[in-house]
Amino acid sequence: MLLSYFMFFLLLFWGGLLGFYAKDLLRNWREPVLRHPVVIFESDDWGAGPLDQAKSLEKLREILAAFKDVAGRAPAATLGIILAIADTRRIRDMGGHEYFSASLAEPLFDPLREAMLEGARQGVFALHLHGMEHYWPPALMEAAAKDVNVRGWLQSDGIPGTEALPSALQSGWTDASVLPSQALSSEALHAAISEEASQFFACFNERPRVAVATTFVWTEEVEIAWARSGIEVIITPGARYTCRDETGKPGGADKRMANGELSRSGQIYLVRDAYFEPTLGHTPEQLLRDVKEHVRLGRPCLVEMHRFNFIGTAEKRDASLHALKTALQQLQSGFPDLRFMTSLELAEAIRAKVPVWVETKTVLRINVWLRRIGQIRGFSRLAGISGLAIPLWLIGKVTR
Ligand SMILES: [Zn+2]
Repeated sequence: MLLSYFMFFLLLFWGGLLGFYAKDLLRNWREPVLRHPVVIFESDDWGAGPLDQAKSLEKLREILAAFKDVAGRAPAATLGIILAIADTRRIRDMGGHEYFSASLAEPLFDPLREAMLEGARQGVFALHLHGMEHYWPPALMEAAAKDVNVRGWLQSDGIPGTEALPSALQSGWTDASVLPSQALSSEALHAAISEEASQFFACFNERPRVAVATTFVWTEEVEIAWARSGIEVIITPGARYTCRDETGKPGGADKRMANGELSRSGQIYLVRDAYFEPTLGHTPEQLLRDVKEHVRLGRPCLVEMHRFNFIGTAEKRDASLHALKTALQQLQSGFPDLRFMTSLELAEAIRAKVPVWVETKTVLRINVWLRRIGQIRGFSRLAGISGLAIPLWLIGKVTR
């Protein structure tokens, strides 16, 4: 009798636990399980900016093109493109109170665009829309009125790098001239996104299909505007941050997402949650561990690797390139079945559930799902304490 009471309450608790975490459990179940290890390097911030990028892109292209996966495919680095930058000389000449910009379409940037297009033709670069500028120009002008450093940046000699701006101001889809940042007007936002999609076409003769918001701050409204401009894929860090909080950090997360989930506007989300920034001390060995974990969980490994690693001094650039080369060598020997593809190709394979890429066998999917839910911190702990982990473990044994 006592035992049946105990069993009743135990099952009740397990039911409650599963119910409480249902959203996370379902999200992990719905997320596609990949059949091969997939690694995609994602490099943001390239475009209108310092001219030494052309040399860096050339070298990056050479390194990537030297590798091939088992299917003969070279690794792809997606480039998050910035389409315009402050025309600092003109701003200075006009007294500093008005904003002027230089476009990536201008002849000055020909070598850059050519390097990007050559890499795209070779299949080692894929061009993503990152934004017109890597900031919201009115916010930057507003901040410049109060901040001598921002004023100095806007009137500096040569073509500045946006990496030097205060972090909060590098978000393009919120007004961070005050903190917490303020939402942009819907009209201004829609007009800006339509304009940048046309500008992307003017630069590359193709419309953008993948977008990644600057500093991963964007809103539902941005997604609607992106959809109108033909954006089909959104790169995310697994959450949507909508503003900069009072301390200047990305905040206001209003949504979480997994690979393959759809936005309300119908775009497919991908999650970029691995980091390989050699100048920040990330090593090839760490990357290898990250990839291993992604493979274990049936996930693609989208790796963040910003432009800042590859510009500045030649020593810094070459050290980062060398680290990338080492990482690629180690990945190839560590994962003989490793596959390279672009984020767009991955999104299309997931959307169409292409059987070569996406696991369809229920037994194998259950096994990977059990590994994934072991990562849900609260659930995993309570499942351990309550004993729910035992039947889950048995299911894992059977489905192995
Ligand atoms: Zn960026």
